[in-house]
Order: sequence, then structure tokens, then C-alpha cells
Amino acid sequence: MCGIFAVSGKGNHAGNIILEGLKKLEYRGYDSWGIALRKAGKDAILIEKEVGKISKVNKELSPSVEGIGHSRWATHGGVTRENAHPHQVGKVTIVHNGIFENFSKHKKQFEAKGTSFCSQTDSEVIAAILNSFFEAGFSPEKCITKTAKKIDGRFAFLAMFEGISGIFAARRGSPLIIGRGKTETFIASDIPAFLEKTNIVNYLDDNEMVLVNGTTVNFKNLQTGLPVEKRDIKVPWKVESAEKGKFPHFMIKEIFEQKETIARAINHDENALNQAISLLKDCNGVFFVACGTAHKVAMTAEYFFAEISGRKINVVPASEMPYFERFINKKTAIIAISQSGETADVLEVLERGKKAGAKILSLTNVESSSIARLSDVHIPILAGPEKAVASTKAATSQMALLFLLAYTEVGKTNIAREILRSTSSSINDFLNERYEAIIQDVAKTIVKKENLFIIGRGDLYPMALEAAIKIQEVSYIHAQGFSAGELKHGPIALIEKDTPCLVLGDDLETLSNAVELKSRGAKIIGISPQRADVFDEWLKIPDCDGAKAIVTIIPVQILAYHLALLRNIDPDMPRNLAKSVTVK
Ligand code: GLU
Repeated sequence: MCGIFAVSGKGNHAGNIILEGLKKLEYRGYDSWGIALRKAGKDAILIEKEVGKISKVNKELSPSVEGIGHSRWATHGGVTRENAHPHQVGKVTIVHNGIFENFSKHKKQFEAKGTSFCSQTDSEVIAAILNSFFEAGFSPEKCITKTAKKIDGRFAFLAMFEGISGIFAARRGSPLIIGRGKTETFIASDIPAFLEKTNIVNYLDDNEMVLVNGTTVNFKNLQTGLPVEKRDIKVPWKVESAEKGKFPHFMIKEIFEQKETIARAINHDENALNQAISLLKDCNGVFFVACGTAHKVAMTAEYFFAEISGRKINVVPASEMPYFERFINKKTAIIAISQSGETADVLEVLERGKKAGAKILSLTNVESSSIARLSDVHIPILAGPEKAVASTKAATSQMALLFLLAYTEVGKTNIAREILRSTSSSINDFLNERYEAIIQDVAKTIVKKENLFIIGRGDLYPMALEAAIKIQEVSYIHAQGFSAGELKHGPIALIEKDTPCLVLGDDLETLSNAVELKSRGAKIIGISPQRADVFDEWLKIPDCDGAKAIVTIIPVQILAYHLALLRNIDPDMPRNLAKSVTVK
């Protein structure tokens, strides 16, 4: 979470480059922003920071050769100007992504010696530690090495030292990528920040630091300080793929991209799929580990594997995995699902699983991500950059790929490919502006409601849970998903006259549950291939056989998007959230 971005170069425009770059990282955190700039190597460092979204900022920043910037998602300390990054203590200025878990012990030690802090953040304490070493005469590199030893938790930080030109960066757990421009170098949490300027990158690995001064770049090991060699990598992303194009928001752009992304997700050769599946052979236990939407995808895939290949897979939200750790050993396979490949809770499970000898398979959208690099086998979902906070195309691509893998396990990859190709072409047919307008009209009928319920059974049960997440996160309506059969065991007490209920599917049992809801006054919105009498509103979807979960969620994504717009909420940047959850 949070976007960090630095530039060091020959020109005089570091400020404006950082401002524009941070706007492209805003999806990672958007409660406040700040930039620290330096005119030349020996000059003092000037800071500008404010509460609010950086996308709303339009100002000329003072001429400068280099600087660091931050768009925050607060973990420690409220959303105030003081808590916004950069933080400056003495001669050191930093921006930080992550959580300094043991910061209060260090903060108290500084306070006991008379240092006072301006913010409530953990991050300011990193600046204080760096500064204490710098004042004691250590070089910036040594200061970083010594400081990193004191930090428990995952981090990425950028630092500037007064009187010394260049930007210093270190990472343990949170992503940092170096962009190699012709006249300047960039350091960012994600590639879109500098993609307009260069697509040649180096990935900073865990426990590494980098010293950037103009186009001079030196990588070092964070513990030993010894040089590290890096390969230049050309990223295949196009600038437009990370822009909104003709769409008003990333969320709706990404929903419509599902016309192509499902077909792309299954575009892996047989060898790669077999290699993934071979990891599961001879395992006594297989765990899906994921968070949020990816966790609901994993729950859906649990049904796919049970039905298609007869394998029972345990699905555990990554943050709950520590309670099942005794089941992880050399005979275990962990399947990690994460859009960004940087989800801190998942990473932690994988690091511990690896130590215990477990085999790791991962599905992410970023081939160079920490999760991908930690895995024995990684399969990219090939969805292209997903920038809206609410995951849409990544989720359906993950589902398609897992569906394919379940069939691969029984040697029937081709059958899955056929089903998914036909699913993809049906999506291409029904996903258009006319369909969107129908859903917008349905959204208008429920926009004022406080509560909304969703039911489904089988693999549509996890989709009911996912539908609830979509609606909660972008429209702030209280939405809850239930397994259709569970309703009468409690949740049905919540139904009042006109309570909107989405019914996923048109099988007889689900329809009788819908009738139970309607008998208690609910307004029934059916999402299914066939219309049923019980539906007050009907959102038709194509009949996609075993892949129905994939198509069923699409109208809900559009509904959530329009509920957000009708309620005056920016669907790309809903409150309290951020994309890519790199903190635990
Ligand atoms: N822990 C820091 C803060 O609350 C950084 C959070 C982040 O990664 O955005 O300011």
C-alpha cells in the first residue's frame, strides 16, 4: 500500500515528474501526499505535503534535479498533514511503505534523549534512526544497513541525505522497481509511475539497496553492503494499458476488458500447466491461500477441483493460515492467488511454507512480483495492469486459469479450453453499452437502500460473497452474501419489505430459496441464463456450463460500479482502501 516514487536526473523538472508519476500510483493509497525536492547536490531539501488526493493537485513545483514522493495509505497515525510523508529528521528525509512493527520501542528511546517527533507515524522513527547514524559520521549506505537491522516488518523506503546528492532506497518485503531512463533514473512501487519515460527496469530484491545519482545506479546487498549485479529487463506493457482511454474510470474499463482477458488467461502451453499440476502430485495436503476477492476466487476453485478432478483443496484466508501451520510440511502444496503478487499476508505464508519444505504454486498478474519469484512454479494470469481498487478482470482471469488447471489435472485441458473459449466469446457478445444501461436502471431502483443481500449455491456461493465485496467496497451499501441453503438458518430474519436480494443462478433449489425471500417482502433481482417468475428484475447472462461463476459476477461488477456513481463515490478510489495490500 502507498505509492512511492523518486527521480534523479539531469533536468530541472524532478518535481513535476514526481507529481505526475505519483498520480499513476494513486491507486495504492490516496489519503494524503507529499514530495521532497532538492535543487542540486548540496542544497537543502524542501518538502511540500498535503491531505487529500494527489490527482486533484495541479501546481508547478520549484525547479529541482531530484526528489522523492509518496501517496499514503495510513497505518500509524491519522490522515493529517503532519503524518503525510516525506518525514524529515535532522539531515535525513524519507518516504516509507510498510509497517515498522517495533517502532514504539525506538521512538521512546529517542524521546528519552530529548528528540521530539512531528507525527504519530512509525515512518518518522526510521528517519530519526537514519539521522542518528548520519550525525555519528556514517556514510548513507552504512546508515541504511544499520537502520534496516533495527526494523522488524516489511518495508521499502527512499532516503535523501542533506549535502549528499542522490537517492538511496532499500527494500525488505515491499516492492521497488528501478526505471532506467536516458537522462534520469526512477525508483517506484510500480511500473506505471514511469512507463511513459522508460520500459527498461531492474527489480530490487528483498534485502537489497540501491544508490541512484542521475543515471549512475549501484545495487548493494542490504546486510553486507557488497555490490549486486542486475540485468536490465524490458517490460512488455504498453502505456495505454495503464491508462483509462475512452472510459471515465479504470473500474469500468477493466470490467469491459473481460471481453479479452479470459481468452488471454488460458493462453498457456500444455507444459506450463502440467508443470503446475505436477507440484500437486504426491501431496498429502493442498492449500489455497489468498485475501479478499482472490480468496473468494479460491473458494470457487475449491468447487472446480472437487467436481472436475476430485481433489479436495483447503481454502484459507492468508491471515488465518498461521493457525493451520502444523499441517505444512514437505508433503504440502500451497497455491497462492494474488493480483499484485505483493500481498503481505500471502507472502508471509509462503515464506514460512518454504521454510517448512512446502511446494509453492502461484497465480499473479505481475510476473516479476515477490510472490511469483518466491514460487516453485508461477503462472501469470495475463490480465494486464489492474488499477481500480475493486478487482474485476483479475478475478475472472484467476478463475478461468484455475478452471483450466482443474481439467489439466485429469488430462482434459482441451475440454476446459473449449468451454472457456466459448465463455469468452459469449462475454464478448453480451458485454456492451446496452447491457450496461439495463444494469444502470436496476441500480437506480436500489440506490437508496441501506442493505442488500446476495444468495447462491455451489460455485455461485463464493460468488455471492464476492458480489458482496464488490458492492460494499465501491458503493458503501451494506451487502452480505449467503449460501442459498443457509438462509433459513438465520439470515432470513434480516429481510423486510423491498429489501433488495440478488439471486445468482436459476436452479430449482436456489429459486425456491428466492421464493422464501420474496414471501417475506424481498425485491428479487435474478442473475441467470433463464428468467424465473420469482424475479422482479432479471439480468440475463449466457449459459456457460461449468464456467458459470465467471460470467455471473460480471453484471454484479457493473451494478456495483453504477451504484457507486449514483452515490457520488469515485469507484476507482473508495474510502479507506488501497490496491496492493503490502501491509499485514
Ligand atoms: N506506516 C506508514 C504510515 O502510516 C506507511 C504506510 C504506507 O505504506 O502507506 O504512514
